Amino acid sequence: MLRSLTMSAKACLVTDSLVGPRHSQVVEESLTAAGFAVVGALVPAGEAHKTLQSVSSIFDQLLAGKIERSTPVLALGGGVIGDMTGFVAATILRGVPFVQIPTSLLAMVDASVGGKTGVNHATGKNLIGAFHQPIAVFIDPDVLRTLPAAELQGGLAECIKHDIIRDAEGFSNLERNIQRAVSLDLEYLEELVAHNVAIKARVVEADPFERGERAHLNFGHTFGHAIETVSNYSVSHGHGVALGMVAASRLAQSLGMIDARTTERIVAVIGKAGLPTGGLKLPADQIVAAMSFDKKVKSGKVRFILPTGIGQVKIRDDVPPDLVTRAVESLGS
Ligand code: NAD
Repeated sequence: MLRSLTMSAKACLVTDSLVGPRHSQVVEESLTAAGFAVVGALVPAGEAHKTLQSVSSIFDQLLAGKIERSTPVLALGGGVIGDMTGFVAATILRGVPFVQIPTSLLAMVDASVGGKTGVNHATGKNLIGAFHQPIAVFIDPDVLRTLPAAELQGGLAECIKHDIIRDAEGFSNLERNIQRAVSLDLEYLEELVAHNVAIKARVVEADPFERGERAHLNFGHTFGHAIETVSNYSVSHGHGVALGMVAASRLAQSLGMIDARTTERIVAVIGKAGLPTGGLKLPADQIVAAMSFDKKVKSGKVRFILPTGIGQVKIRDDVPPDLVTRAVESLGS
């Protein structure tokens, strides 16, 4: 399929130290069979390595392989590899074709769609980057067999989010089937990935540079990021988003935007995915304070993405602070 998109003699394959040993051989063999000379680049796995140092190491490895402006650069890995490799592809030789082969559920349904690339800086996450759309995204759900269960849950949190913001029918389907995803039913996961890529693509196509409705994808993330930060990252992103969606739903309910039954359905599906819906042992006041430092704060006002029903959300920046505090406190029980 890549051969039909480029006549380049070479292809670069960037991966990490955990995904590489498990999945790079099959990709390399496929590329070689299609007549590409493969230039490989390997970096250590994990969010801690989503840095300019890793980007610099990838630059060194690709330039040593004498790549050209037309050489496609392929990201084989989770969102960390996708974001970093995309940034490399956006900048090396002033931009080369970029291809994503996401291997985590989160990267399949979220990070590989939309063209956001970048790395973290000591002062915050994803502060350096560029928009650079891939020329292709290849997804093989079979690689999810080797993904740790906790990472699968992180992807499921984003799937739940997508249906809450855009698709009532998808949400009902998820209520019936989420257990199949947890138990790694690949037939269902393939369906789930396709459904979620379509939702994310639809949102991003309508607003590629996040000037309006792309912000809906931040549902659960304003609370979630604050929880991650205050926990010093001992709460994972997926768990933060899960708790954030619970808090945002309760906040919407307290504002009269949704009824108690809708909140119950949201909380139940999050729980069925094995994600947390409560039991948070962090001070609510610190979480509320951390929210005002969020990247999504506009003109000093914290913006919340809140459901008005399953399948639809609204942006609100007029929420009374005591209701926000109460929503966060509710996560303690
Ligand atoms: P990740 O890339 O760190 O992957 C999670 C872990 O799973 C890593 O240790 C990785 O090596 C391992 N892994 C991945 N696939 C595997 C497989 N098939 N088998 C075994 N191990 C595997 O993290 P992630 O959750 O995939 O992505 C999170 C990153 O994505 C964050 O940096 C976040 O900022 C970014 N992100 C970007 C966007 C975007 O629009 N660009 C959207 C959401 C998230």
